[in-house]
Amino acid sequence: MENKLYFYNTLTRKVEQFIPNQEGKVSMYTCGPTVYHFAHIGNLRSYIMEDLLEKTLRYIGYDVKRVMNITDVGHLSSDADTGEDKMLIGAKREHKSVMDLAKFYTDAFMSDCGKLNIKTPEVVEPATNCISEFIQMVEKLLKDGYAYESGGNIYFDTSKLEEYHIFSNQTERELLVGVRDDVQEDGNKRNKSDFVLWFTKSKFDDQELKWDSPWGVGYPGWHIECSCISIKHLGEYMDIHCGGVDNIFPHHTNEIAQSEAYLGHKWCNYWFHVHHLNDKAGKISKSKGAVLTIPLLESKGYDPLVYRWFCLQSHYRKPLEFSFEVLDQMKAAYDKLVKRIGSLSREGDIDQERFAFFRKQFEDALCDDLNSSMAITVLYDVLKAEITDAAKYALIKDFDQVLSLNLTSAYAAKEEESAVDEELEAYILSRIEERKAAKKQKDYAKADAIRQELLEQGIVLEDTREGVKWKMA
Ligand code: AMP
Ligand code: ZN
Repeated sequence: MENKLYFYNTLTRKVEQFIPNQEGKVSMYTCGPTVYHFAHIGNLRSYIMEDLLEKTLRYIGYDVKRVMNITDVGHLSSDADTGEDKMLIGAKREHKSVMDLAKFYTDAFMSDCGKLNIKTPEVVEPATNCISEFIQMVEKLLKDGYAYESGGNIYFDTSKLEEYHIFSNQTERELLVGVRDDVQEDGNKRNKSDFVLWFTKSKFDDQELKWDSPWGVGYPGWHIECSCISIKHLGEYMDIHCGGVDNIFPHHTNEIAQSEAYLGHKWCNYWFHVHHLNDKAGKISKSKGAVLTIPLLESKGYDPLVYRWFCLQSHYRKPLEFSFEVLDQMKAAYDKLVKRIGSLSREGDIDQERFAFFRKQFEDALCDDLNSSMAITVLYDVLKAEITDAAKYALIKDFDQVLSLNLTSAYAAKEEESAVDEELEAYILSRIEERKAAKKQKDYAKADAIRQELLEQGIVLEDTREGVKWKMA
């Protein structure tokens, strides 16, 4: 490992040098989506920046194992353990079973990630796969005196810990960010900060997904999922845990409490949090109006990678404001950039010394608390540098292992697409002419056959006063 990576650790509130537990290897956990709705582009900002961290680690030579859960049970509408399971709310909204809903939105999430070039983690585990493991963890916490039963539910007793608010030296404002929409109180708790490990039917009768447990039929709390799934796949000592800033409290605070009580030692060394994407009206969320999604951006003509490009221009620790005006500027800059890269000739020698120099600059930017906008500046420096086109092209291809913006292939793909378009258009216009001629000769059968043939190819003809128009079906 030549370069040392530094990034902000929420646990210590400092930009720190990253030192993994095992030399050369990194274990990394990401809180996955709650699959009751489409991921909005704010959620995806978190996953893009986590992807950047993972790819930076790989770029500088680490072997990374990354695990992500899929929350398909237990995440209630309020993070304070009250309200309804979000999955149940979604299932009712869409008249689907919870499992069908989970499958639909898990697939949609994976498709969004694919379009954004976000690498799929080595392990993706739905919470409903791990019920017996959750129960075993809760049993141990009860046995060791860290949990209690009340009102039919099992709670974690935060008063049993010397230090519960592990992130407590967060500023109050930062903690406020963590409290989601509609926090209500649960009267069964002994202490305000206690949280549910296992719900039983005594509390939520209409819960669709429930399992047998030593405490009655019920379902797991949200926080236990991530502790359990990460320990299952990454072991007792973890290097990096990621999420958006709203996960800091209570979710990650509770994960630390129960994991360390269960393991009896420190669990995760580095906590990486991505700040929120906002719009002019504030934090982007699913409860507010039309959900801003990747398919929505696509329907407006934006390549999803333009959104990734937009995210990479800003630092992950700064709130980012989204607007279509800025996205338009990003689109123009991205198109110009890939065009310029597409015009580079690949002929010529590559000066290895200059190559290493720019690669080091790029690495240095990323290793400085993931300074992605600086890394992009290095990319523009390469384009301006007095080196051969072949060297520029090779460097950009190399950088794109981390940036994942299809920098060397996007332009060729666009050209190919427009060449196909031109060919298709010429074909359609010639068939329209043929149809016109048939009509003139009163050969309506032939004219109809042409229309039908095109329709079968997905092309619709419309006779208008201005002449024949066509569109794709
Ligand atoms: P959820 O599906 O609600 O569990 O959230 C998935 C991920 O998106 C979590 O890591 C959240 O912290 C993160 N997240 C939620 N809202 C935003 C936002 N507006 N900007 C960035 N990340 C967010
Ligand atoms: Zn989590």
